[in-house]
Amino acid sequence: MSLQGKTALVTGSTSGIGLGIALTLAKAGANLVLNGFGDASAVIEQVRQYGGKVGHHPADVSDVGQIADMIAYAEREFGGVDILVNNAGIQHVDAVEDFPVESWDKIIAINLSSVFHSTRLCLPGMRAKGWGRIVNIASVHGLVGSTGKAAYVAAKHGVIGLTKVVGLETAASQITCNAICPGWVLTPLVQKQIDDRGAETGDIEQAKHDLLAEKQPSLEFVTPSQLGELTLFLCSDAGAQVRGAAWNIDGGWLAR
Ligand code: NAD
Repeated sequence: MSLQGKTALVTGSTSGIGLGIALTLAKAGANLVLNGFGDASAVIEQVRQYGGKVGHHPADVSDVGQIADMIAYAEREFGGVDILVNNAGIQHVDAVEDFPVESWDKIIAINLSSVFHSTRLCLPGMRAKGWGRIVNIASVHGLVGSTGKAAYVAAKHGVIGLTKVVGLETAASQITCNAICPGWVLTPLVQKQIDDRGAETGDIEQAKHDLLAEKQPSLEFVTPSQLGELTLFLCSDAGAQVRGAAWNIDGGWLAR
């Protein structure tokens, strides 16, 4: 399928899943507005190899003013956002009674509120064009809980609720809104959790195996490019009647 002439904004695309999705959409012909922290120049070059127009906006998505600037940039430089992928996210692991209040606030702002803000700011442009795709990268933790992840699980459940509402509010249009719910993907966000477990035993490989064995029956990580391909399907005509869904891609995590 060709996304030639469409512009995709992928939040948190300087690393991990967001980068995998950005590369897949660029390969399909989309122009890309990248976002995320760190030096973006190498990532811009990687995406540019597919020939589309590429830009990077450094918005911190915990700040509503910076999200508005990013979308204004996309409108000014790219003619608007046709495909919005809300992907930026962070994690913090602690029991509820030990959970730092500032970590709760930050996770809710980045993993949940930013999805609301970018969606409400992109929708008018999509409605004006009569076409749009919103893909929210939630998590299996949007559908089930795990200990130590109060803020993350609450935020991801919230993203799935928001996805359903936006899916309904856009149901009679050519705009769709869906959530993707990955299981474990080996990115810096998960590597930190493996390192923390490994630090207790001194065996990182064992920590990686144990992390998978606890939840993911396939014993294999989901990859960023598999998530890119699922995003691409949701952007296609074949995906046009997938609306308000929470689509798990999780090596069997939710099947047991
Ligand atoms: P990652 O740490 O590799 O990448 C996160 C990206 O978000 C980076 O580009 C980072 O710069 C950006 N980012 C972080 N805070 C930001 C902020 N305030 N403003 C703008 N950008 C910010 O993480 P990842 O594993 O690729 O996670 C991406 C998404 O996928 C997250 O929403 C995460 O919850 C979700 N997810 C990850 C997994 C997994 O196993 N890795 C599983 C399910 C869902």
